[in-house]
Amino acid sequence: MRLRALASLAFLAPLFVCGAAEAYCRSTTCVGDCPRDEDECKITGQKLYWASGCVGFSLQEDSSQHIPMKYFRQVAQRSFLAWTELECDSGVSSLSFAELDEVSCHQTEYNSGGANANIILFQDNKWDYQGVDNTLAKTTVTFDDDTGEILDADIEINHAYNHFTINDMEIDYDLESVLTHEVGHFIGLDHTLDFSATMFAGYEPGTIEQRTLEEDDILAACEVYAPERQVSCDTKPRGGFATECGGEPAATDEDGEDEGGCSVAAPGGSSGDDTPLSSVFAFAVSAFFVSRLLGRKPQRNVR
Ligand SMILES: [Zn+2]
Repeated sequence: MRLRALASLAFLAPLFVCGAAEAYCRSTTCVGDCPRDEDECKITGQKLYWASGCVGFSLQEDSSQHIPMKYFRQVAQRSFLAWTELECDSGVSSLSFAELDEVSCHQTEYNSGGANANIILFQDNKWDYQGVDNTLAKTTVTFDDDTGEILDADIEINHAYNHFTINDMEIDYDLESVLTHEVGHFIGLDHTLDFSATMFAGYEPGTIEQRTLEEDDILAACEVYAPERQVSCDTKPRGGFATECGGEPAATDEDGEDEGGCSVAAPGGSSGDDTPLSSVFAFAVSAFFVSRLLGRKPQRNVR
């Protein structure tokens, strides 16, 4: 079995939307410079999905030195809840989440021969990826290259070069907005050109709109996790649950960004039959994009 990693997702028509143009894209097993359609969606490769109806995730036990675990947990849970059991045309979407125990492992990795964890972690002191000063977070999804089944997903938050806030009043970079976007990648969604959607590739500092899903996001999730999907619920990570590191570091994203502010890369040895491949989405500050659409002066809010 060939393995890879990446992020993306898809749709279905919700109750209140008729004939609306969907812009959403699903992530696929195609990594790198892939052909895309008019919506900028990848058109080759298998589409990514979690096979289980329930996916477990874990918070890294150190949280951030700037954010107490209590608040990290509240925000993370709300971010996953946003994507849980959505109202689709034909019923409720077939995906929910469960928080498993905290983990000590503080790195994105996948252990193909052992136990794993789907980790949400802060990088407080360094950001070893490109876009140090404007990349807010990064999600790495490891998948089966033959089927598109997601095997592992990890989210890293770049607090080393950005100031995240968790309140509703004095907002800098809203952690919940950023995490909700990252969870979209976590479940197999790619960026959308719909700038009102949570899966739009940019975040405007000071805003909280991306905490909640929009029509395009819901359509996406309802396609991948359709109500009719016959699935069982198993929150255990692939190979069992591990609280300590034990696998190989997952892909890095040094191969360049696409226009959406996310980069996708395959790790070394990606052509090998048993080598996990990882695709990476880095969520960037792209005030320019959103502000331009709103007719406002672009902001630079990077620290
Ligand atoms: Zn993204």
